[in-house]
Parts: sequence; structure tokens; C-alpha cells
Amino acid sequence: MNASTAIAMYGAALLVWCIECRQSGIFRTRLPHAARNVAVTAMAIATGGLLASAVAFGTRVGGHWGLFEKLQFTPTLRIFIGIFAIDFVEYLRHRLSHAVPFLWRFHRVHHADEELDITSTFVFHPGEVVLTIALRVGAIVLLGIPVESLLIYQAIATPLAFAQHSLLKLPWLEPTLRPVFVTPIAHKIHHERTEGAIHANFGTVFIWWDYIWRTHQNVGALPQKYGLAELDGTSITFERLLCMPSMSFDKQIAATHDRSSET
Ligand SMILES: [Zn+2]
Ligand SMILES: [Zn+2]
Repeated sequence: MNASTAIAMYGAALLVWCIECRQSGIFRTRLPHAARNVAVTAMAIATGGLLASAVAFGTRVGGHWGLFEKLQFTPTLRIFIGIFAIDFVEYLRHRLSHAVPFLWRFHRVHHADEELDITSTFVFHPGEVVLTIALRVGAIVLLGIPVESLLIYQAIATPLAFAQHSLLKLPWLEPTLRPVFVTPIAHKIHHERTEGAIHANFGTVFIWWDYIWRTHQNVGALPQKYGLAELDGTSITFERLLCMPSMSFDKQIAATHDRSSET
């Protein structure tokens, strides 16, 4: 994604945020929440930007040595299969992030938000961004995924991710997307507040992986609450989001810590 496309997309997201906050009458109360999320997002994007050359290098190496080259796929077939391959790798990474305690320590940053809205879309710990890109570069090299697949994938995934986290009510969008894509309600169910991490709807773009591996949860209504029970009693600040991988969130310890910091 080039700089002007990124600015246009994030500018549009900011506009949507203003509209959804006005619609809900929560504009002023959401400002500190938005500032915190934008700051973490900026760190995640900066981390991704620093690693962009590794991705570009991976596409060059994979183009010579990857599986698609060995099988002599045509350029069009490489692009087409590459798009689905990236999404499948993303599905696997997301499932592992919920199953492996070390990875969950990073991924819970994305699940910590109790006031999910469009500003929550790219709230990821920089450590998770590094792990995601490392895995993606590995897949790019092994398979020989071309750069065109990455650009097309990002052009679909970014606006879809904004829609998945937005508060805007778009009733026509849900049934339109449902046969192919992870819909806004499906992803919001993944953010539903539960005692443990929710183990459903891991897909990023295409919903089929969840159907195939039986991790799809029926989507009817929006969840009542978001966030994580393990963070109860903890105020989610910018600093705490960044330190989250190293923090133990035993509820009593967190509550005690918060009470002592208030006094
Ligand atoms: Zn998740
Ligand atoms: Zn999300």
C-alpha cells in the first residue's frame, strides 16, 4: 500500500469514527479512548513499515525458489492462489495466537478493548506485528507469493477490517458479505467478553477457513460486552497495552495495583 492510499484509507476511517460517535452521542467520552488506540496503531504501523523491506525481499527470493516457481504456475495463478494462501496463513496465526500462551500475551492487546469501535481496528502490540510479518515472509518465500497478491489482499483486508470493528449500523452489508467474507458481526463475536479467550471466527478476510475447520460461530446479534474478563479491574492505558506481554493479569493483583495507584 503506498502512502497516499494509506492516508486516504485512514482519513476515511477517521471520518467514519466521527460519524459513528455522533450517531451514538459519545463523541466527547470517546476522545481519550481514540487517542490511546491511535497511539498504539501508530506504533504498529511504524513497526510494519520498518519491516516492509523484509517482505519485499521475501517476494524476490520466493519468486525464484518458491513452490509456485517449482510447479511453474502462471503469473495470474500465482497472484490468485497467493491471495488465499496469505489469508490461510493469517487464519493459522490467529488460531495459534489464542492457543499458545506466549502468543496470547501479545494478542490479548487486540482483545483488551471494552469499547470496540473503528479506532480498535489496528490496535496490535508491535511484538505481534513482528511475529505476523516473520510468519508471512516465511510463507512468501516457501510458496513464492508475488507482491501483487499482497497488494490486492491488503486492499481487501484493510477496509473490511475497519467495517468489522466499526459501530456504524450497516444492515445491508451483513447478508451481502456473509457467503464469502468475515462479516462485522462475525468478527465482533470474536471480540465478545468471555471468561477465557473466545475460540471462534478466527478468519481475517474469507470465512471459509472457519467453516472448514469448524471454528465458525453462528452469527445472529451483536455481543452485549467486549473485552477480557482476565483484565477486570485494570484500567487499559497506553502504557499498560505496551507492557501487556510481560504482565500477569491475575484479577486480584490487577485490582490491587489499580487501587494502590489511585491512592
Ligand atoms: Zn483474536
Ligand atoms: Zn478485531
